[in-house]
This record gives sequence, C-alpha cells and structure tokens, in this order.
Amino acid sequence: MTPFELMEPETLGEALALLDPDDVSVRPIAGGTALMLMMKAGVFRPTRLVSLRRLPSKHSGISSAANGDLVIGAMTPLSSVEHSPEVARAAPVIPRAMRRLSNIRVRNVATIGGNLAHGDPHMDLPPVLIALRGEVLAVGNKGERTIALEDLFTGYFETVLAKNEIIAACRVPAQGATRAAYLKVTTGSAEDWPALGVAVAFAVEESTIKSARIVVSAATERAIRLKTAEQALAGALSTRRRSPAPAMRPLPKRSVSPISGARPRTSASSFASMCRARCAKPCMMGRIPAMEPAADDDQHHPRRADRAFAAAARST
Ligand SMILES: Cc1cc2nc3c(=O)[nH]c(=O)nc-3n(C[C@H](O)[C@H](O)[C@H](O)COP(=O)(O)OP(=O)(O)OC[C@H]3O[C@@H](n4cnc5c(N)ncnc54)[C@H](O)[C@@H]3O)c2cc1C
Repeated sequence: MTPFELMEPETLGEALALLDPDDVSVRPIAGGTALMLMMKAGVFRPTRLVSLRRLPSKHSGISSAANGDLVIGAMTPLSSVEHSPEVARAAPVIPRAMRRLSNIRVRNVATIGGNLAHGDPHMDLPPVLIALRGEVLAVGNKGERTIALEDLFTGYFETVLAKNEIIAACRVPAQGATRAAYLKVTTGSAEDWPALGVAVAFAVEESTIKSARIVVSAATERAIRLKTAEQALAGALSTRRRSPAPAMRPLPKRSVSPISGARPRTSASSFASMCRARCAKPCMMGRIPAMEPAADDDQHHPRRADRAFAAAARST
C-alpha cells in the first residue's frame, strides 16, 4: 500500500482546512468501511485521509427538533440510528430498514454521513430517506448549505458535494401520519447489498393518499423517484384491505433506466414493468403505519422477473 497521511482534526473547521478542493486523493474518512474496501481493491490511493472520529460529540448524536424532525449527526454510527428511541418514534421505517442493512459489525462502524456521502446506489438508506424528504447539512469553507437528499446524488458514486465539503448532519422530517415502507431484493442473504431497493411514503388522509413518494435504487445509477407512479397514486384509496398499487399505471419506458452495462440487456420498458411490479409489496406494507415486514418480505431468492436486477447487481 502506498503511504499516506492520516490527520485527526478535533473541529469541523480544522477538518475543512485539511481538505483540498482540487485533489481527489485527499478525502475525509468516517467509519472507513467503504473507503477501506476501495483502498484494498486499489481503486482509491489516498495521499491524505482526514479522519472525522475526533470531532466533538455533537456530530455523533441524535436529537429531535421542536417540530419533531430528527437531527442525526453525520458521525453517528448506523447501529445507534437503528436503536435510537427518537428515530423509532419519529420514523419507524428507518430502524426496520436497518435491521437488514449488512451485519451488526458493519453497522457498528459505518456512519450515516459516510453512508450518504459515498454516493453508492447499492445502499439501503438513501431511498428510505429520500422517500421521507430527508436532507443533509453540508459545511464547506464558504459556509453551510442544506441539500435535499433527492438532489444529493447525481450519478454512479457521484454527489453534488465539493471535495472540501463535509456532511455535518442529516435531518429527517417526522413521519407523523405518513405511512412508509422499504423492501429490498437481494441476490444472496436477506442482509446482502440490495440488487433493488424500493421505498414508499404515503401521506394519507382518511384512507386516501394525498401524496406519494416512491424511490427505487441499486439497479439504477442513483436512487430516483418514480414521479409518474407517484402522480398516479395521488387520490388512490389505501386501506387495510385495499392496496393502492393497482392505481399505478404502467410506467413510461424512459421513466427509469437500469444501470448501464447490465447483463443480460434489459429493455427500458421491461425494466419499467419490473420496477412497477416490485413497488406493489411496499405499497401494501405502507398501508398500515407500524406494520412489521413479514419474514419473507425481503425477497432474497430472485424469481425469474428479478434476474435482470440480479444481473445488474452482479455486473457492478
Ligand atoms: C461487508 C459490507 C457489507 C455492506 N452491506 C451493505 C448493505 O447491505 N446495505 C447498505 O446500505 N450498505 C452496505 N454496506 C455499505 C456501508 O453501509 C457503507 O460502507 C457505509 O455506510 C459507509 O460509511 P462509513 O462511515 O464507513 O464511510 P467511509 O468509508 O468512511 O466513507 C465513505 C465515503 O464518504 C466520504 N465521507 C465520509 N463521511 C463523510 C462526511 N461526513 N462528509 C463528507 N464525506 C464523507 C468519504 O470520503 C468516502 O468517500 C456494506 C459495507 C460492507 C463493508
């Protein structure tokens, strides 16, 4: 391994000063679970890593704002998010999704800031947090800005973050009456990386969906909203007995595209049909606020229709 500098600043300001906007070999490191894999594989050779571990504890805490919104410090380990009573109260879909996010060893070390900054589409949290209208607070030398999570990801492992910008916190509106669910299809065990992730969030009034957010990820270059399906669901009934899923019309073929290079090639229209089909179950789960996923809700043995998703996951 090529030698590199490891800096351990104690304030956010010091950390920012150590980053270089023009040098891609200088990066912040949080839990290191993603960066170490890239370094071991030789796809990332740092000259300097700026560790965020010694930042003040406010960057690794979880609190509820006066309006109930969650504020999660970027350095908060995923396992703390998973077990936080505040998170369970404000957004129960998050701990439910996290139980099957890799294993406890990874969740103990990986941080929410690293999870979001990495820009990897094969992640469970981004679709869930986009569905919940989450946002990040990014801090740079020119000040701070708030970025809606749906605008954070621009492509495959790409985000709008500058090289010398650090995510300081993630804000998630409390679910309140919004019903939300997340489901992932994997090619291995239920805790494996998603080959497809689908998150839904419905704002429901008297069993009618007022607005819907549906986000797919993993088989796509970045987590994206299915806006056509969302519009079709507005006004649909969502009751204990009736899933709103049938209200979704077939998705236009250009509304969602698989990761380029996926083998076997999947036509845009069959990919759109698969996405629509895969939305049905989380839509059903989204009917009842506190519904726990059943044991088979994560479909880790892909059926025929899922082969393209599985192929997309293997090819990347
Ligand atoms: C074996 C294994 C299995 C996994 N399975 C899953 C899975 O099933 N589902 C899933 O969702 N994920 C999975 N992951 C991915 C895991 O969730 C990520 O590796 C982790 O969330 C990254 O967080 P980190 O703190 O370790 O980031 P790091 O590795 O420290 O950093 C990742 C990237 O983010 C940047 N960065 C870190 N923190 C910040 C910040 N605050 N501001 C700006 N940039 C920052 C770094 O410079 C780097 O580019 C798995 C990982 C492993 C190793």
